[in-house]
Amino acid sequence: MTAALGGGAARDAVVVEPLGSPWPVTAGLTRDGATVVGGVDVRDLVAEHGTPVYVLDEEDFRARARAFRSAFSDAFARIGTGVDVYYAGKAFLSVAVARWAREEGLRIDTATGGELAVALRAQVPGPEIGLHGNNKSDDELDRALAARVGRIVVDSLEEVARVARAVERRGDGVPAPVMVRVTTGVHAGGHEYISTAHEDQKFGLSVAGGQALEALEAVVATPGLELLGVHSHIGSQILEPDGFAVAARSVLGLRAELAQRTGVLVPEVDLGGGFGIAYLPGESALDPAVAAEGLAAAVATACAELGTAVPRISIEPGRAIVGPAGLTLYSVGTLKPVAVDEGLVRTYVSVDGGMSDNLRPALYGADYTARVLSRPTGDVMTLARVVGKHCESGDVVVRDVMLPADVRRGDVLGVAATGAYGRSMASNYNQVPRPPVVAVRGGTARVLVRRETEDDLLALDLG
Ligand SMILES: *Cc1c(COP(=O)(O)O)cnc(C)c1O
Repeated sequence: MTAALGGGAARDAVVVEPLGSPWPVTAGLTRDGATVVGGVDVRDLVAEHGTPVYVLDEEDFRARARAFRSAFSDAFARIGTGVDVYYAGKAFLSVAVARWAREEGLRIDTATGGELAVALRAQVPGPEIGLHGNNKSDDELDRALAARVGRIVVDSLEEVARVARAVERRGDGVPAPVMVRVTTGVHAGGHEYISTAHEDQKFGLSVAGGQALEALEAVVATPGLELLGVHSHIGSQILEPDGFAVAARSVLGLRAELAQRTGVLVPEVDLGGGFGIAYLPGESALDPAVAAEGLAAAVATACAELGTAVPRISIEPGRAIVGPAGLTLYSVGTLKPVAVDEGLVRTYVSVDGGMSDNLRPALYGADYTARVLSRPTGDVMTLARVVGKHCESGDVVVRDVMLPADVRRGDVLGVAATGAYGRSMASNYNQVPRPPVVAVRGGTARVLVRRETEDDLLALDLG
């Protein structure tokens, strides 16, 4: 379909005023006050695909993928090494999105057999795929080896032996390329990071506690395994680069220690994902160029101090590539003014989705912003809370937002920056079918993942 839908002549889809951050880069207002994204009028999208609908701005996704690749390649070329950027598919993966990432020179990180299946369906070559997970099944390991994935990221001591057994089962004599995920004690997220000696969470092997070194030595000593490097992922939605630099120094120190003890200097270090984005107007993202410069400087300094060669680096951004490229369109339903305090009234604006299509507010207290996208609205604003249709009072989409006082049933409400961990964490709570994902680019919309139907849900119910 094209922007000409909705009867008669093509609408004027020229953006005269971009919506700006945190909306996708092509989102903006036209001369007649309509909103377009990817050159497609939001009203046409809704007429064709209904609501709720996830909209993905292909141009925005590709531009962010390129920005990470070029910023990190440039910064690390200056210190004499190369970088591989893995798109963390758990943020949102479909066949088309895996292809976009690959076309922009990225590889794909997967964390389950399901994510691996999508990457393979997109014809991403196995060597360009990584497999993560703290509890991989034998079947997942077997499938990863069969696909000749570029790396299996081992997450426990017992997994070292389990991967070796999978290599034996396969019996073709090809060693499994392995990284070891370590925890450096750096936990980053939001604006701060903290550095602690203790690790009390399920991922990785502790550097301070010695289990990381033990696992690395076990990989070196195990036939059938090829030790590629050390992996560290410190958190998510990180807005300052310092935490990455502290973790990089720790990982490089561990690499040097392993070299001293075994003579093996691993060729690669993976510094994980977690690059933060803007969710609200006025918030700033972690600029990939700033992150890349900071990390390259930290890696160069640490390697010089340790007297080791600079390793090849990889990173794994997910949210920072797909998050800002996505928005969700909902239809406004019930409006309910609620007196919350003396003289303070909050309008509860109900939409036709909620925690089943965006779990992050309920799971993490995450904040979003919203605006009416289907028509020009009045200038008077009112305090609102956007809520879903589910049977939970915690079913909040946007906790606090100023919306036009004339917001009314039938308006199309857009919520920004829902591209990451929206569709990928969606559920069928209350037997609600999951919304489609529609990509827009250059005036054309294309369904990447179709809408679920009640028949889809009933097909699973064997009575
Ligand atoms: C979740 C995760 C990522 C991606 O995190 P983002 O915050 O989406 O960038 C990368 N690597 C690993 C190991 C992860 O678990």
